[in-house]
Amino acid sequence: MTERSSVSRPRLDVPDPVAPAPPGAPTRLLLAGRGRGRPPRHLADLTMAERRAVVADLGQPPYRAAQLSRHFFGRFTQQADQMSDLPRASRDLLADALLPRLLTAERELSCDAGTTRKTLWRAFDGTLIESVLMRYPDRVTMCVSSQAGCGIGCPFCATGQAGLTRNLSAAEIVTQVVAGARLLAAGQVPGVSSRGGLGGSSPRANTARVSNVVFMGMGEPLANYASVVAAVRRITDPVPEGLGISQRSVTVSTVGLVPAITRLRGEGLSVTLAVSLHAPDDELRDTLVPVNRRWKVGEVLAAAWDYAAATGRRVSIEYALIRDINDQAWRADLLGSLLTGRLAHVNLIPLNPTPESKWTASRPAVQREFVRRLTAAGVPVTVRDTRGREIDGACGQLAASARP
Ligand code: SAH
Ligand code: SF4
Repeated sequence: MTERSSVSRPRLDVPDPVAPAPPGAPTRLLLAGRGRGRPPRHLADLTMAERRAVVADLGQPPYRAAQLSRHFFGRFTQQADQMSDLPRASRDLLADALLPRLLTAERELSCDAGTTRKTLWRAFDGTLIESVLMRYPDRVTMCVSSQAGCGIGCPFCATGQAGLTRNLSAAEIVTQVVAGARLLAAGQVPGVSSRGGLGGSSPRANTARVSNVVFMGMGEPLANYASVVAAVRRITDPVPEGLGISQRSVTVSTVGLVPAITRLRGEGLSVTLAVSLHAPDDELRDTLVPVNRRWKVGEVLAAAWDYAAATGRRVSIEYALIRDINDQAWRADLLGSLLTGRLAHVNLIPLNPTPESKWTASRPAVQREFVRRLTAAGVPVTVRDTRGREIDGACGQLAASARP
């Protein structure tokens, strides 16, 4: 089990994400009556076999587990009164046991003509987290939180400022995606045509599915390893086990917790790995990404290349361009030399300054030069679009200050 501490921890106290469970450790199933401080158990925390066992414990036929799962993952509903294929007498019993309400929308913000929507969620214990839905002409991306807050403490990041509150459960992560899928299925998110105009006006003509999930909201996903991997399985397993989104369309973004990257490589998942590098040299990275004092640039990249070799997936190197801090030409060249010939591309992110930040985004000419030097080194580069900036909803920039 991963730690589920509800207190803030010192910034560099990164839990060991790869500590093996002691032999004979109880499985989550046996923890049905979780203690205070833990989110209620939900079917999205469990494998289908575990769901069947819970259903059987309630004296119900085990196949009800698949029926219930189909409601949640196929129709995005968890309201007992809508489950007409279940006997009236069992509906509440089953829904109470396996479909508790985990997140309540506290506040919704939208921009980009309604195609970008940020939701502030309140969890069972009052914890606040955020997710963002971004609809494009050809895809819909859900950016989800994996922790409430974050313990890594990168000085440029809004989430990092407040420290870690707690890890999210797998079901709390999956619920963010299901909520987006529900909105889309109900035609409540306007479409955008490839020419930039709004799509069909009737809600029915305007429905869509979540095609991509990125773990780029609040938190360091690999510091909440077990719940994140369970959530990835639920997101990608076919209905009724899960949501049926392609593994290749899921991106896990990490600051580079090396043992956890190595462990992820062994999961047999072909999810995309994003590594938030932000500096090619240890001296600067030690300050921008404090966990670099534990795992250096060379070790992080070596783990990333092993991941790329095992999965065949191109690694995304995230680099927030910060004016006069990490945007020098020599750093572009050093980055290029580290990445040339590797299965990687660079995603440059113009810094979105946090409220009290003394830092800001690079000048356009400097950004162009950075791109040019990487391109000259044969490294593919994209500059991340700035969707959702006006609502602090761009991925990784969810402002913990967005209180109601
Ligand atoms: N903790 C993980 C995932 C969440 S952050 C990680 O750091 O990778 C998602 C991305 O947004 C990371 O690449 C992060 O470095 C970036 N980010 C955070 N704050 C930012 C800011 N103020 N401006 C631009 N990018 C930022
Ligand atoms: Fe945490 Fe990522 Fe923010 Fe760093 S950038 S503080 S790891 S959420």
